[in-house]
Amino acid sequence: YTTAENESEADVILFNTCSVRQHAEDKVYSQIGELRETKKARPELVIGVMGCMVENYKTKFFSRFPYVDLLIGTKSIRELPAAIEKIKKERVKVFELTKAGFGYDLYETPRFEGKIHAYLPIMTGCDKVCSFCVVPYVRGPEISRPSKEVIEEVKRFAESGVKHVTLLGQNVNSYRGNNVGAGASARPLNLINGQPQGAAPTFADLIREITQIPGIEKISFTTSHPEDAREELFLAIRDHEKISRHFHLPLQSGSDQILQKMRRGHTLAEYRKKIDRMRELVPDVSITTDIICGFPTETEDDFCKTEQALRAIEYDDAFIFRYSQRPHTGAGRLENTVSETEKARRVTELLQIQKEISRKRNQTYVGRTFKVLIEEVSKKSNDEVLAWSWHDKKVVFPGDASEIGLIVDVTLVDLMNETFHAVRV
Ligand code: SAH
Repeated sequence: YTTAENESEADVILFNTCSVRQHAEDKVYSQIGELRETKKARPELVIGVMGCMVENYKTKFFSRFPYVDLLIGTKSIRELPAAIEKIKKERVKVFELTKAGFGYDLYETPRFEGKIHAYLPIMTGCDKVCSFCVVPYVRGPEISRPSKEVIEEVKRFAESGVKHVTLLGQNVNSYRGNNVGAGASARPLNLINGQPQGAAPTFADLIREITQIPGIEKISFTTSHPEDAREELFLAIRDHEKISRHFHLPLQSGSDQILQKMRRGHTLAEYRKKIDRMRELVPDVSITTDIICGFPTETEDDFCKTEQALRAIEYDDAFIFRYSQRPHTGAGRLENTVSETEKARRVTELLQIQKEISRKRNQTYVGRTFKVLIEEVSKKSNDEVLAWSWHDKKVVFPGDASEIGLIVDVTLVDLMNETFHAVRV
């Protein structure tokens, strides 16, 4: 199969879904709804739903949308090709859901052939119990890929031309790879300050090992839970130029009372200590966050504390969400005490505050020189390229497709929204 230009040309339409917020689910429902007539006109079209909504609602999709052919859970992706063939041959409905294994077997090097930037899941699931979050329910407990496998995969990426790898996990810092099959003496990964640390390499061990792979120039990762973002990782970032100087560390709320009800496992002061330490070790680190507005019982006073935290911490950027009640979560049983209008007001207010802060922070980059990795040709002009700094700042400057993959030094000359214009030095 190859990617179709549009729906009317497609033989198969797959929805890869997210259950984190109701809004994302509603969009999927409405888009599947829009296919009703298309499917009537072209019954041979295969319509499938994948991802977390399948974990969440299972066969309910078939009753709500009888023309959906295929439901595939997050750990059954490898069944997809066979399922499509079966549907085409036998015109049956297929529902595949398993709770076992890792489920990412299809993340293989060929996907990223000819690409500069590859994404690699290194762990899945989450053992945290954040009361707003559906991830532990739809993704199950944490499972890490063995470090040997991860390293081999990144080496294959590098051989195929990849320069930048982003390590993915719902709680990526709690990665614990086991070196199955490697003897005690064959565990180069598992050293902290030269000292062996037991059987399983940590995330910092893994990322340090990846810095040694020739051809890989930049290593990013997401997402981190504050509890598992530790000194060991900050030191790795400080010591290895290849590791991105960008940290996404969700705060969710600036009120200790709300943080406790969210079951985040830390106070604002504890969180700020980590940020301070990180900035101390890596002074030019750029930090971004996630905030939820209108968690049950959030008062105006709680909200003001979040506002104060944003002003005090001065993130490079923040993703700000309205609280969305999720099934199977701790908070799902709590009364949704903040009205949708009030949630929206709080979100708007924080977005405005953050916009100013982001602008102010970005202004401090103007006039400075950074190395950047050219990743794409600009969508607006064939004579310009898009590159990203190691702080994850997006930069545009004159260039062409032949330069994709090069690392160059540029001076940032001005800022347009969130993109910098630059000149080469
Ligand atoms: N650890 C995860 C987080 C995914 S959700 C990861 O893999 O990245 C991303 C963000 O969505 C969270 O940090 C949180 O701010 C927000 N979020 C999660 N559940 C939410 C809910 N019920 N309502 C609103 N926002 C939510």
